[in-house]
Amino acid sequence: MKNVFFSGQAALPAIGQGTWYMGEEAHMRAKEVDALRAGIDCGLTLIDTAEMYADGGAEEVVGEALRGGLRDKVFLVSKVYPWNAGGKKAIAACEASLRRLRTDVLDLYLLHWKGNYSLEETVAAMETLIRQGKIRRWGVSNLDYDDMQALMSVDGGQACATNQVLYHLGSRGIEFDLLPWCQQQAMPVMAYCPLAQAGRLRRGLLENNVVQDIAWNHKVTAAQILLAWVISHQGVMAIPKASSVAHVKENAAALGIALSSEDLTRLDAAFPAPKAKTPLDMV
Ligand code: NDP
Repeated sequence: MKNVFFSGQAALPAIGQGTWYMGEEAHMRAKEVDALRAGIDCGLTLIDTAEMYADGGAEEVVGEALRGGLRDKVFLVSKVYPWNAGGKKAIAACEASLRRLRTDVLDLYLLHWKGNYSLEETVAAMETLIRQGKIRRWGVSNLDYDDMQALMSVDGGQACATNQVLYHLGSRGIEFDLLPWCQQQAMPVMAYCPLAQAGRLRRGLLENNVVQDIAWNHKVTAAQILLAWVISHQGVMAIPKASSVAHVKENAAALGIALSSEDLTRLDAAFPAPKAKTPLDMV
């Protein structure tokens, strides 16, 4: 089984659980809670959420799923809006996330995307939150190669624990510069939309003949092949969102799929790696 390593943390399975669109509809809540708990049972122990998702509703679903002693089994990640990512606003936003999640500390807190505050101000706020014991580490999301270089030139910026970006078989832009750079730094990359819910080439990915054929050979589903492909890259983890126990189990089983070099060559031919810089794909 493939693992990823965050600083100061034991190895984590390279597939976690996303939560975007959870907490939107009351009638789905019990199903979403069950799915997250089933995921933890199957070893998908990283849960990714954000103050943005359902206006805090997704964090509440996660908080409910973790009741009854599950918090300590999970590596909990949330994200701060750019317009809250500095000064007192960052402290208040983090405290509100902690309340909704029913915990007193996040394992990882991410800047959701860059914007309103300077990177210096965001790093300073993250350092304050660490000193206050509210977060264990911090990272970023949706920052392209140049943004990461800018972050590294900020005092304290080198402590960034991850970059969470859109990455799937149909959207491989990061392989040109950002991914190799992160790999050199031993900085784990969190791939969002690993099942191509969004991104450049998303339509038809699950139905693609090559993907289907490889899935058939491995006796798994096309979605599992997409996940196995994402995590076949060094230092990359996938955070698929699934709101049914069946999907969660399928996603967990993808941890055990080993794509052969022939599989990878066929996927490369169907979905070539980038030959030039493309702007970072985002939702
Ligand atoms: P995904 O690529 O994970 O796709 C989610 C969709 O795939 C859902 O419709 C889900 O259906 C379906 N699905 C899940 N498992 C399977 C399966 N085994 N077979 C078939 N379909 C499946 O997209 P997301 O946009 O949700 O990305 C994943 C996570 O990444 C988010 O939930 C969020 O936590 C994070 N994210 C971060 C962003 C950022 O800016 N940092 C932006 C976007 C996402 P169902 O729910 O019915 O199971």
